[in-house]
Amino acid sequence: MLRTPDQYVRSLQARSLVLYVDGERVADPTVHPRVRPAINAVAATYALAHDPRTRELATAQSELTGARVNRFTHLFAQPEDLRRKLELQRVLGRLTGTCFQRCVGMDGINSLFIATFEAGGEHHERFVRWLRQVQRDDEVIDGAMTDPKGNRNQRPPQQPEHYLRVVERRPDGLVLRGAKIHQTGAANSHQILVMPGMAMRPGEEDFAVAAAMPVDAPGVTMVLGRQPSDERKGGPDAGNALYGGQEVVILFDDVLVPWERVFLDGQLPACTTLVEAFAGFHRASYGGCKPGNLDVLIGAAALLADEHGVRRASHVRDKLVEMAHLGETIHGLGLGASSKATRHESGVHQVDPLLANVCKHHVTRLPYEVVRLAEDIAGGLMATMPSLADLEHPEIGPALRTVVGSDERARALRLVEYMSYGAGSVPLRIECMHGAGSPQAQRIVLERRIDWARRVDAARRLAGLPAREGDDADDRRLDHQIAAAGQPEAAATK
Ligand code: SF4
Ligand code: FE
Repeated sequence: MLRTPDQYVRSLQARSLVLYVDGERVADPTVHPRVRPAINAVAATYALAHDPRTRELATAQSELTGARVNRFTHLFAQPEDLRRKLELQRVLGRLTGTCFQRCVGMDGINSLFIATFEAGGEHHERFVRWLRQVQRDDEVIDGAMTDPKGNRNQRPPQQPEHYLRVVERRPDGLVLRGAKIHQTGAANSHQILVMPGMAMRPGEEDFAVAAAMPVDAPGVTMVLGRQPSDERKGGPDAGNALYGGQEVVILFDDVLVPWERVFLDGQLPACTTLVEAFAGFHRASYGGCKPGNLDVLIGAAALLADEHGVRRASHVRDKLVEMAHLGETIHGLGLGASSKATRHESGVHQVDPLLANVCKHHVTRLPYEVVRLAEDIAGGLMATMPSLADLEHPEIGPALRTVVGSDERARALRLVEYMSYGAGSVPLRIECMHGAGSPQAQRIVLERRIDWARRVDAARRLAGLPAREGDDADDRRLDHQIAAAGQPEAAATK
């Protein structure tokens, strides 16, 4: 089944979700002004699956069921699936101007397919049975990885209260206690897929758990994140007229998960595989959604340049070109990581981990420059402009409009403000910095994955230094061949 946006929103109304917003329990999240914009952004992932222009991109043929499924529930069975994911994320990032929330589940599904394949037997069979149901019902999966972690110097057993953990194993399932934070789109999901947020060591088996449960399972409580300009949502100054992102804290108060929905329980090597695979997939994903978001910001800056009458000024054109070039740089890295795909023996294709980390690392920097340039073009009015409600006031409105200018200018200013430090889910820059791992997490992977020896060997060869043990003999053989080419003895030494 490919749900429509309407079917999706109705399916959310059928849940008994326990959700708190600003200290109050929310009866129906689908009509709450703080939640609905984020639901709209997820609904866009359903709408594209039916739109004739994007149907091919937003859906795929499932190897598991043979049916056409939404790409957000699909396995990366072909290298092409990784590239199409990036293209779809860019379209959605540009369409919504925010986080559309469904990629963590998609990347988590693919990672867990690989990890349970390595764990073998019942682990993989249970997971595949579950995934078939997710594809059939076209569900939104909240990929729940990040634990609060407490003191980073202490391992989970020293501070178990800061990690989601198994507190009991019973004949009918295991019992989970703890919390997950930074939960993208959790309140707009159908199921939570909990996964460990880091590799676990021997003795830490209770923390190496991957399992699925409905978002309204008994013991699950969600609390919506709070942003400085949240109160503008739904009003004239929202910035983004329709869409928003969402981050949630999830509390697990002794949640019973039946064994049929437990995919990993203490399998440490598989847990490490899972964490590493997810980091690769999701760090490449930022090469899709963030350039799409930046397209909106660049468009708003160009619109403002027109409104200010400076669009043809050479320094403004140069700034706009610079902004676009930075966005394309991120996208190119995401596509590069996807194009260098390798096939895991499970059949899922994985991105190039080095380029995926370089992509995400650029995302922690380049959007800051794009935002800086947008703020430069926008001018100070972006931060000092009165509410759009004042502009529409019958008495003060006409005079204020003379000050602020056109409706285009006022709305574009609000949009730049929203995109740069307003309330999408979290401000775009903070999401760019910390989503899918903070910068140091990427540098650690880069240092580990870069082939330093090969680089040093290349330098030693060209500097005329002798080979050392372990150096690549083939490169030196090529050197000799090339140097000897055309010389009388070349034929003999070939
Ligand atoms: Fe998808 Fe980007 Fe949001 Fe992650 S931050 S869920 S990749 S839109
Ligand atoms: Fe994110």
